[in-house]
Amino acid sequence: MNKQTTAASPQYEVIIIGAGVAGIYQLYRLVELGFHTTVLEAAGGLGGTWYRNRYPGCRFDSESYTYGFSFSKELLQEWDWKERFSGQPENLRYLNHVADKFDLRKHMQFNSKVESAHFDEDRNLWRLHLEDGRELTCRFVVTGLGLLSAPTLPRIEGMESFKGPSFHTYYWPHEPIALAGKKVAVIGTGATGVQVIGEIADKVAELTVFQRRPNWCAPLNNGPISPSEMAAIRARYDEIFETCLRTPGGFEHEPDRRGFYEVTADERRALWDRLYGEPGFGIWLSNFREIFMDEAANAEFSEYIAAKIRERVTNPVIAEKLIPKDHGFGIQRVPLETCYYEAYNRDNVHLVDIQETPIERITPTGIRTSKRDYDFDIIVYATGFDAITGSYDRIDIRGVGGQRLRDKWADGPVTFLGMQISGFPNFITVAGPQSGSASTNFPRGIEVGVEWVTQLLAYTRKHGFTRMEATPEAEARWTQHVVKMYSTMLMRKAKGWFTGYNSNVAGHEHGKVRYLVYNGGAPKFRATITQVAEENYKGIAFR
Ligand code: NAP
Repeated sequence: MNKQTTAASPQYEVIIIGAGVAGIYQLYRLVELGFHTTVLEAAGGLGGTWYRNRYPGCRFDSESYTYGFSFSKELLQEWDWKERFSGQPENLRYLNHVADKFDLRKHMQFNSKVESAHFDEDRNLWRLHLEDGRELTCRFVVTGLGLLSAPTLPRIEGMESFKGPSFHTYYWPHEPIALAGKKVAVIGTGATGVQVIGEIADKVAELTVFQRRPNWCAPLNNGPISPSEMAAIRARYDEIFETCLRTPGGFEHEPDRRGFYEVTADERRALWDRLYGEPGFGIWLSNFREIFMDEAANAEFSEYIAAKIRERVTNPVIAEKLIPKDHGFGIQRVPLETCYYEAYNRDNVHLVDIQETPIERITPTGIRTSKRDYDFDIIVYATGFDAITGSYDRIDIRGVGGQRLRDKWADGPVTFLGMQISGFPNFITVAGPQSGSASTNFPRGIEVGVEWVTQLLAYTRKHGFTRMEATPEAEARWTQHVVKMYSTMLMRKAKGWFTGYNSNVAGHEHGKVRYLVYNGGAPKFRATITQVAEENYKGIAFR
């Protein structure tokens, strides 16, 4: 049994869980206002996603200069992004630079994994139990758990028996792994697998990709940022962030507001040719809005991308295997790639379609499919995450009456604004399921969420409230709104993490939609939460 804290008041006003992009900024804001706070981080360092994911090829697919924090002009002016889509090592350096610049590290506790968080109704505080045996108490918990921080491995017989290194991409070892001369297997072709495959294809002896379902991928078109380009970016930071605030996804990419059917097929093609050659998510987000909602429009555009894949992959049989047949472009998260399709033109790269020849087991020396045995030195599992709610499910979170959050969310999350949960007072999920951050260029959504949370905490302090909680009515209304937003989107039919599908998680494998993300766009989300604040946080009950 853990020792109980007996002091009447909690040790901290606020405990932030997670030292990633959200936790860092939340900490900055609360320290600024003089809150007594600390960050608990399970990993050995700060950075969240950018601390964990160290696989080759790991990089932004948001333009670097739209991913950095916007809150400090000094920070913006002193940091040079060297690539349009910066790689993981640089991104981690950036986040460490931010923490050091604003002297935040002293408020962070690393290797401090929270195992449980229980609400003490008598004292209106949270008791957090850590893996190392400590118990900490606080009035408010703010979670910055990330969207994709609960990695999931497949359930394949024999996985433990493999003699060589094998790991999920999230746990790619920190020490360098020698790839030269090695036979490597990659299982999974989501955004992560696509980055790894493109990066290592020419660095290993043999690369064998085990693909269950292909994804629609498009070129990242990365490149260096020269000093003069960086100077030009600096000069227009205000404009860049204003644009990001205006667009649905928090990027510089704005939707093409002409109607899909108002322009000719040639005009559509001209737009697509331009976007395919441009950097980043323009091909997805600067497209016609009908692509997301209209089957026929989506099919025409998907066929355009299929033709690109056929052009880029020389073997027509392989090309067909790489073209998704069960969903259209952009209704699952689009992986952006660098030489991904060209990798399959190499003699040392092989594609195994595991719908045709399923994996039967992992053997001590490799992988056995229904057709044959393969020998490998290294097996990489790029098999994804139990998205958004997974990292909450992995903590034993109990609210009023001992109700477990994972039980409450068993059929999918229900929230107020993605940031509050009825029955879980004083518990704030800054980038939780159904929040605006979950479907935008992450830091852009995060800054909006953190600022709202900061004002909310300042409001409770000003009024001397010790307890706040979303009302069940407000929660039901918001969740219904989130569900309704899905109903207009083709996305609702997809088997990807946007709908909570994961074949490796019990209960999430049947494709029953879990309403994880808010699809109303960043401006609408911001307007909604601003209005809630202006109406004295209507929907939240204070005591
Ligand atoms: P993912 O998109 O969920 O892809 C997982 C892949 O593993 C899929 O191809 C899936 O096949 C396959 N898979 C899962 N279980 C399997 C099994 N039991 N047997 C065989 N194959 C299996 O995960 P991810 O690639 O890690 O990407 C997750 C998200 O992380 C992305 O959507 C993106 O939001 C984020 N991400 C961002 C960046 C970036 O910003 N640059 C880079 C990487 C990732 P099925 O499709 O058939 O399920």
